[in-house]
Amino acid sequence: MTSLRSVFASATAIVTFSLTVPTVSWAEQPIPVVATFSILGDMVERIGGEHIALTTLVGPDGDTHVYQPTPKAARSVAEADVLFMNGLEFEGWLERLAEAASFNGAMVVATNGIVPIAFEEHEDEHEEHDEHEEHDDHEEHDEHEEHDDHAGHDHGTFDPHAWQSLDNAVIYANNIAAGLAQADPANASAYYINRAVFVDQIVALKSDVDAMMGALPADKRTVVTPHDAFGYFAAAYDLTFEAPQGMSTESEVSAADVAALITQIRRDSISAVFIESITDNRMMEQIANETGATIGGTLYSDALSGETGPASTYLDMIRHNATTLSDALGS
Ligand SMILES: [Zn+2]
Repeated sequence: MTSLRSVFASATAIVTFSLTVPTVSWAEQPIPVVATFSILGDMVERIGGEHIALTTLVGPDGDTHVYQPTPKAARSVAEADVLFMNGLEFEGWLERLAEAASFNGAMVVATNGIVPIAFEEHEDEHEEHDEHEEHDDHEEHDEHEEHDDHAGHDHGTFDPHAWQSLDNAVIYANNIAAGLAQADPANASAYYINRAVFVDQIVALKSDVDAMMGALPADKRTVVTPHDAFGYFAAAYDLTFEAPQGMSTESEVSAADVAALITQIRRDSISAVFIESITDNRMMEQIANETGATIGGTLYSDALSGETGPASTYLDMIRHNATTLSDALGS
């Protein structure tokens, strides 16, 4: 049991200490921050270092699309000085959580300043969609019964999976560093130094990934995954990603979607399909069985792996995905 006297004594000791050693202050306590999901959490950890105490709400292998906040999550949010989110409606549950927790810290939207990909742009990649002239409202596209993979309408206007572009990761890093520096000015220089180190690592990785993806043969540049999470990666490397499920893992998959994909895999002689760490992969196994395509490996889309997995950091995740694609599709 801690007595009142000892609490008072220790408080006095701390005050005395901070008076005699002015460089140590209350500000040296790591600031409590929350990141919504593991990929963003890793970036925040890298830039915040020992100056932050981080809670990540949706951990490794977790699915942010279908996450349901816990009371513990609400307590973490209530105590946080800064709340880092992806934005682009990835965290549909966050606004209610922040309200319920009476969050009054700073909110940092990591995708601020990126060029978002409208999810319609993905559909333009489907030849069957040529007849869509404007693509401005899915609600009016009911007549396209074969392509209702976005029928869930539980996503926003834009593809939220922006972290799959390494160029965007630099913008995430900038936003994170600026958010931390604003919340904790005493350590601003540390945050900006950590940001610079991280950005150097991103740039180095990008040159490796550029080389791997650039070497993929022209007829091996279509990638089939369970959910549509790689639009930014596809755009960066002139790849085409096909997915029976839409942007969100919440979307229903229709038999017609699967059948259309099977037809396409056969027609285009697509040799490998990929599974994801966060999705139910029975559908992809069925598609592989029916088409003779092999399972090319596991891609990490919306979450990191655990510590012992191949994608336990953002940089490892991108490298793992690129290597997996290169191994399965390279000649
Ligand atoms: Zn997703």
